[in-house]
Amino acid sequence: MSFYEVGIVGAGVHGASAAYHLARRGVPTVVFERGERAGGPTGQASGVVRSYYTNRFLVGVARDSTAILADFDARVGGRSGYVRTGGLYLHGAGDVADVHATAAGLAAAGIGHTVLSPDDLAARFTYLNLDGTAVGVWEDQAGYADPHGTALGYATRAVEHGAVVLEHTPVREITEGAHAVRVVTGDGTRHEVGRLLVAAGPWTGPLLAQVGVTLPLTAERHVVAGLVHAPADVPRAVPYVLIDIQHGYYSRPAGAERFLLGPLAPTAATDPDDYATGITADEVDWLAARAAHRAPIRGHATAARSWASLYDVSPDWQPVTGQVGPRVYVDAGTSGHGFKLAPVWGDHVARLLIGDPDPGLAQFSPARFAAGSVLTGGYGAARILG
Ligand SMILES: Cc1cc2nc3c(=O)[nH]c(=O)nc-3n(C[C@H](O)[C@H](O)[C@H](O)COP(=O)(O)OP(=O)(O)OC[C@H]3O[C@@H](n4cnc5c(N)ncnc54)[C@H](O)[C@@H]3O)c2cc1C
Repeated sequence: MSFYEVGIVGAGVHGASAAYHLARRGVPTVVFERGERAGGPTGQASGVVRSYYTNRFLVGVARDSTAILADFDARVGGRSGYVRTGGLYLHGAGDVADVHATAAGLAAAGIGHTVLSPDDLAARFTYLNLDGTAVGVWEDQAGYADPHGTALGYATRAVEHGAVVLEHTPVREITEGAHAVRVVTGDGTRHEVGRLLVAAGPWTGPLLAQVGVTLPLTAERHVVAGLVHAPADVPRAVPYVLIDIQHGYYSRPAGAERFLLGPLAPTAATDPDDYATGITADEVDWLAARAAHRAPIRGHATAARSWASLYDVSPDWQPVTGQVGPRVYVDAGTSGHGFKLAPVWGDHVARLLIGDPDPGLAQFSPARFAAGSVLTGGYGAARILG
């Protein structure tokens, strides 16, 4: 039977980042992944990178994570695929006061941004239909990156620092003992770990239930629609991240001709082992119509590769990260916005596991739900803004 100080269930970008930050500190770490590294929702994420958060701790995490993504090869090693495009956030009248509060948070964190009135927006974004938009914010450092490449970078560097990543190794049973956590994997092999981190995305809840921990985590199916411009339209394409809170969708470029669209609102809870991985024509049309209303040039774009995957959702759409048993920890519930946080979040998780947590992390404790102290975040239905 093997023994490691820390075991991690899940080699998505959060598990991989935590493994890297533990291993670089010299903590013997093993990662159990039932598929391949980044083979779950991480590998199907849109990769939007922004610091436009209402939660000030997350503003700082996103800011510092963006800096790492932008210099990934030098600071971690590998290819994050980060492309800085800037980001535009558009809001209706009901959000104005909250937008100014969010902008104050960006200012306090030193993040370059501009709050834009309807007149400012009309002067600067002449090709957008700005009907009903009451306020906008431009964020300088927003962009997009490659979640799959980022997670592979962390996993590869973790291994170089001595971690072991076991792919095609599902965790079947977890038993928390007085001195160790026993983990039984799919082929019946037993492992012991001093502490166990469950970072299994939408499959986290059932694993924790094995050690008597019940958390209100759900899985939601969310789509990503890819569209492609005709070459003649490329000069008038929207070359930056556009989060249209007013109309309920986000978009980001994927190179010069292609762009991705996704919805901002929650969907129904679904079974993570039985959901439609394809996207329907109605789902593409819903997103494409909104995108074309805002940016008419997008009305000429045609459908390209599109897909659906899973968000692991918490009741307040904020991460669920903390200790849930004497030797068991969780990092999940990232609710569709956890990729760009992962570079720094993994460091926070590593510090938590070695007993030196940042006090700012405490607000994301799993205990908040039982205590009735859920977090705020986002704007109306667009809680994914965090
Ligand atoms: C469609 C979509 C778009 C998104 N867009 C963005 C975006 O633009 N920006 C952003 O910041 N975030 C985005 N996200 C969210 C982001 O992808 C997640 O927050 C992040 O990937 C979560 O990473 P994770 O490592 O916690 O979980 P996951 O990626 O879910 O990884 C969990 C891993 O655990 C493994 N596992 C599960 N059960 C077991 C078991 N029993 N034994 C062993 N292994 C197990 C799984 O195979 C999986 O690899 C998006 C997500 C989706 C689905």
